[in-house]
Amino acid sequence: MKKESELNNSLPVLKAAIEATVDGLLVTDKQGKVLCYNQLYVDMWPIPSELLTHASHHAILGYCAGQLRDPERFLRSIEEIYAMLAPESFDVFEFRDGRVFERCAKVKTLEGSTAVLVWSFRDITERRQGESYKAQLAAIVESSNDAIVVKDLNGIITSWNGAAEELFGYRSSEIIGSSVLTLIPPDGLEEENRIMNLIKSGKRTNHFETVRWKKGKKPIDVSVTISPVKDSAGNIIGASKIARDITQRKESQERIEYLAHYDSLTGLPNRALLADRMRIAIENASRYSFRLALLFVDLDRFKLINDSLGHEIGDKLLKAVAGRMQSTVRQTDTVSRLGGDEFIVLLGQIHTATDAAGVAEKLAAVLSQPYQIEQHKLLLTASIGISIYPDSGKDASSLMRNADASMYSAKGQGRNRYQFYSEDLTSTSVERLSLEHDLRGALARDEIFPVYQPQIELATGRVVGAEALMRWERLGQGLVSPASFIPVAEDSGLILSLGEHFLREACLQARQWHEQQQFEGTIAVNVSAVQFRQNDFTDVVLRALADTGLSPECLELEVTESVVMHGVESVAQKMRILESHGIKLAIDDFGTGYSSLSYLRQFAIDRLKIDQCFVRDLPENTDAKAIICAIVAMGLSLGLRVMAEGVETEAQARFLQDINCAESQGYLYAKPMMPNDFEAWLKSRKSGF
Ligand code: C2E
Ligand code: MG
Ligand code: MG
Repeated sequence: MKKESELNNSLPVLKAAIEATVDGLLVTDKQGKVLCYNQLYVDMWPIPSELLTHASHHAILGYCAGQLRDPERFLRSIEEIYAMLAPESFDVFEFRDGRVFERCAKVKTLEGSTAVLVWSFRDITERRQGESYKAQLAAIVESSNDAIVVKDLNGIITSWNGAAEELFGYRSSEIIGSSVLTLIPPDGLEEENRIMNLIKSGKRTNHFETVRWKKGKKPIDVSVTISPVKDSAGNIIGASKIARDITQRKESQERIEYLAHYDSLTGLPNRALLADRMRIAIENASRYSFRLALLFVDLDRFKLINDSLGHEIGDKLLKAVAGRMQSTVRQTDTVSRLGGDEFIVLLGQIHTATDAAGVAEKLAAVLSQPYQIEQHKLLLTASIGISIYPDSGKDASSLMRNADASMYSAKGQGRNRYQFYSEDLTSTSVERLSLEHDLRGALARDEIFPVYQPQIELATGRVVGAEALMRWERLGQGLVSPASFIPVAEDSGLILSLGEHFLREACLQARQWHEQQQFEGTIAVNVSAVQFRQNDFTDVVLRALADTGLSPECLELEVTESVVMHGVESVAQKMRILESHGIKLAIDDFGTGYSSLSYLRQFAIDRLKIDQCFVRDLPENTDAKAIICAIVAMGLSLGLRVMAEGVETEAQARFLQDINCAESQGYLYAKPMMPNDFEAWLKSRKSGF
């Protein structure tokens, strides 16, 4: 009785308790009869009141299931509970409208062993959303291509993603808990501190590029954004860093930069970078009142090597040249390549022009050492033009222009030399252009013609030959020396037509003299290396002989040592063809060019012509004497005829005769003469004058 009254008393309390819970509650018996429920349960679904009056859980369930995503599963699980009466079971189910409920069912045994089922339902939609948001966020972070690193305010790494593992090379387990300084090179520490102060004040950084360390302290270029991390109360508790690997972009940027400023063949600064350096150098020189020098270096006859041995060899030679030039000047000087075989050396600070001359001499000496490129031993010289700031120009372009003009002047003077700028040089370069222009029309205007200089056998005084030398009667300018127009003709390719025309004319003249029996000797014709390089050179010569009717053994071709210097095989082949027809070959200006003499054995050479620079100093100069004696002795031992050029005095002739030099040529006998003068000279000589 007491119990009943106690129960009666406690009912309102229980009722109040049931209504106060956060769950919707329903109590049924084992068959599903509804014993009690709270208002929240009714509201949660919501369940119409007429359904509740039926007071059967099954009827209610049928209604409720209709609102769910998977009604069958829901009903099945509840059937199972009624069937098995498991003491406790949980489930989560979703509504079509997106709500999510968690269900719990507990079997409770009341006094008197009656079992009831207590069903509680809780709306967990919000919690679920939060969880899935976090999961989504984690998935996004994880799948991001950017490295994400989160650290606390002490700089300890608290989390990072897969991309960070890849970028920095540490596994999460290795790095989490370590200081972020592991990833920062020492020179980045100041920046890091500055950024952390910014973060602490709640600001974020914009993208910036910096360097970080990969595992093993390998520097990597990264682009970074750093933002503060806040807790739920809005307090800043750390920073998150998004980093992107920009090494490749940096590399291609650097590559582009490089290509824009450096010559890809030699790696030297190009014209653009040179212009930059010149601007800075001129500014400095003007501020601190010192001088600068610009050396315009052009390789002599480089085209010849390129044309005969191919570009690959040419390129290798240019690289070797670049290397030598760079190692000759100071690090603060700039060696740049303008293109082709043109280089500029900028001497950043000099005191006098003599300093520049010293460098030019050093460069010339270094460049003229033999080069071994593959199987070829090559020789090169350079012509150098020098302009000085502020003496020969106050700005970059006039310094360049004037160095260029000086270089041309150096070439015009016979190459392999340096030349300072002087005011009248600008007119020289203009002059060179007009020379080339006039030379183009010279053949058509019949301004080119040969003169002849006799060649004498020393022992007998007999005229054994004549050298045909080219002359140009330039319109309104008189006779132009071959020394000044042959280089221009070679550079412009005009030498091919000039040379062929000249060869035919000389051959024709010789045949006529032979026919008229005025002269029986050989006719010597100078051949430029550019002509000799042509594939059809031997055809050109043979055709000239056939067309003019001169017999081949009366023709001697004079080539300089530069011809035998490169392209040995093709040269040898051409020489063999010429020799097989009886044509003779002489090495002109012997002693001034190639240092190796082995080619003398290799090629079919008939005669050596000792350069006039040795003869000039005879008979006083002992060095000249020694050299000439050696050449003559060597020629004799190789079965070659030796001729001395530029013989001007009896004393020279006597000396040469004494040492058994076979032949000579020079003003002592006659200057080069027009054909009719040559004929008259021959006659007078025969008649004893
Ligand atoms: P080279 O073939 O060595 O010719 C000899 C040069 O010495 C000639 O100068 C000649 O006039 C000069 N000479 C001769 N005897 C004496 C002397 O006793 N004293 C002095 N001081 N000089 C003497 P030239 O005619 O002015 O020719 C200069 C160079 O031009 C030639 O040197 C040759 O390399 C080149 N050359 C001339 N004609 C031709 C040509 O038809 N074709 C080619 N490719 N080059 C030519
Ligand atoms: Mg000659
Ligand atoms: Mg000569």
